Amino acid sequence: MHPRLQQDLDDLPGILDHTNQLAKGFLAGLQQRPVCPPLAEQELNAEDKILREEGHGALAALDDFWQRYATGLSASAGPRYFGFVTGGNTPAALAADWLVSTTDQNSLLSHDTIAAAIELATIEQLKALLHLPADFSGSFVSGATMANFVGIAIGRQWLGLQRGIDVAQQGLAALGPIQVLSANAHSSSVKSLGMLGIGRDALQSIAQQDNSEAIDITALEQHLAATPGRPTMVLASAGTVNTATFDDLPGLLALRERYPFWLHVDAAFGGVAACSPRYEHLLQGWQQADSITVDAHKWMNVPYDSAIQFTRHLALQMQVFQNHSVYLEAPTLRPDNYLHLTPENSRRFRALPLWMALKAYGRNGMREIVERNVTLARRLGEGLAASKGFRLLAPVNLNILCFALTEIEGEAEAARDRFLARLDQHGVVRCTPTHYAGQPGIRAALVNWMTEERDIILALESMRTCRSEAI
Ligand SMILES: *Cc1c(COP(=O)(O)O)cnc(C)c1O
Repeated sequence: MHPRLQQDLDDLPGILDHTNQLAKGFLAGLQQRPVCPPLAEQELNAEDKILREEGHGALAALDDFWQRYATGLSASAGPRYFGFVTGGNTPAALAADWLVSTTDQNSLLSHDTIAAAIELATIEQLKALLHLPADFSGSFVSGATMANFVGIAIGRQWLGLQRGIDVAQQGLAALGPIQVLSANAHSSSVKSLGMLGIGRDALQSIAQQDNSEAIDITALEQHLAATPGRPTMVLASAGTVNTATFDDLPGLLALRERYPFWLHVDAAFGGVAACSPRYEHLLQGWQQADSITVDAHKWMNVPYDSAIQFTRHLALQMQVFQNHSVYLEAPTLRPDNYLHLTPENSRRFRALPLWMALKAYGRNGMREIVERNVTLARRLGEGLAASKGFRLLAPVNLNILCFALTEIEGEAEAARDRFLARLDQHGVVRCTPTHYAGQPGIRAALVNWMTEERDIILALESMRTCRSEAI
């Protein structure tokens, strides 16, 4: 063994203790940490870009990283990071994630680990949490992007099957073009169309309802009626990233009775609302979808990277993702045969953090996070609407705000960008830019388990200050 490896093996308990100290220090300072480190702090030293011939051992490497670069880490896991849709880590999920790396299990139905059984149990508990029926199966993937990829891939296979074609075997050329219809497909679904050979151009935008991001069912029906027999997939939004708008799922299901299409529901963050009796009506009908995406690293507050794809078409999923080799177990149709159901081969024990969080906090713990975030999002919305210089671009439907600056001189987008840059410098709250209804807007998405009333007060103060400083 290389002497550095031997030294670290001998000193492993000390290395882990030291890592624990660094982690504790980071978490203790998370509330005060700037939400967004200055660009200068995000620069790497030249020597750290170059491979070393001899290493310095784990302790020296850890300290070197921490001393140089800890200030370059954002507070994205903290309570006032409202950019994108960014969750944090509950204690149980964090502890479990440490064990995932420590135990380094391969979750693919090998008969030498409990990992796949726990993954299956986690999926079953999620179905209970989110009121999904027994005929769904699911698996963990790295994020909602891959969950959308898997759902669309199974849909592609289903569209082939309707015409006697096995797309996974024969290729998409045997089927020909697919039309993909959506009012507000997330960009990751568009990316998936590219990756799956369906093509980004296959997406046809359907009109939205007036003053809403939800799909106009009448416009969709007109399109379906005008394209009879065309292999069709509909990508529904169950929570758009701009305004947390939900498509009318019962309306889509009624159309599917008359115009058979694959219905994929992207519920990356919005699906978690199903755990609350207050908001589960938003997901009404998703039990009949063909495939569903739910992120775990957003509103379920487990570490990156974790999401779940659900489907009611397990056999088709195996047709797409089966993985034959003499050295691997043959595909048999079972819901925990992950090697034959997911894009990966070897797989991290990704389910453990969520399994642990559900064990630690239960249905009511998840529900409390969701309901608190929604209440606080509304509070922030009221605060902004009542503040000079801000206005909401859309109602606060759930946990996301979409707002704009008012009373600005000159170009709106430039003013918005100055404001956001100032907000980042201030370091108290992070928001990110968007466009809504043709105007430059600002998003704030609340999904972190630690966010409380005082964070809303701090965020509002910072936003008002930065507005007057930047405009
Ligand atoms: C975040 C998000 C995605 C992409 O998710 P990743 O986990 O970042 O891959 C897809 N769809 C929606 C609606 C999202 O909010």
